[in-house]
Amino acid sequence: DKSELKARVKTQLRRKQYQDDLRSELEESFDLSTKDGLTGVFNRRYFDIHIAQMTEKAKSSGQKLCLMMLDMDHFKNVNDSYGHPAGDAVLKTLTNSLKSSFRVTDLIARYGGEEFMVLLGNITIEQGSVIAEKTRATIEAIDFIIPDHSQPLKKTTSIGIVEFNPVESAQDFINRADKALYEAKETGRNKVVVG
Ligand code: GH3
Ligand code: MG
Ligand code: MG
Repeated sequence: DKSELKARVKTQLRRKQYQDDLRSELEESFDLSTKDGLTGVFNRRYFDIHIAQMTEKAKSSGQKLCLMMLDMDHFKNVNDSYGHPAGDAVLKTLTNSLKSSFRVTDLIARYGGEEFMVLLGNITIEQGSVIAEKTRATIEAIDFIIPDHSQPLKKTTSIGIVEFNPVESAQDFINRADKALYEAKETGRNKVVVG
């Protein structure tokens, strides 16, 4: 029966459309609650949950875990000299570079204004520090294109990196990364400090 068949196909198509809509709505609300609006990387709230889970897992499995904390050098200058939209553009370009540099299993998050965390699984601190140095050099080489300005901008970052110690808490792990970053700032910026 032709018309019967037609009606059934129509019903199935409608059902499929409904499910697709539902799925994209679900994905959208997940993104809204876990991702940073400007850069599209994970937000701090999601990062805090994720690092708590990953450190717990590392404690029981013995898996290696490294945390990289990255902060742009003299970022305030960008806003002061070229305006806030220029600062936003720099942040977007920076995160796009980070997204293409890391494995999909590495978690990239915006921790504060121009501060980012990268949680790296299954690597030693020796490997991690090589990755951190590569990241620093990659950022140094970027030509940041900013609105209404023909000359590309050069920026640098300071990075602290630490390996997880299974006896510490997630917060202590974060604090040590922060301390290493602080030391990188204090000792000249545009450098990596292994904590
Ligand atoms: P340092 O080398 O010591 O890190 O200096 P800094 O200027 O990078 O650090 P500071 O913490 O003094 O300034 C950070 C600036 O980042 C201040 C704030 O206006 C800017 N900022 C934070 N979030 C955003 C944002 O979403 N967009 C823009 N355009 N600027 C932001
Ligand atoms: Mg800064
Ligand atoms: Mg900062």
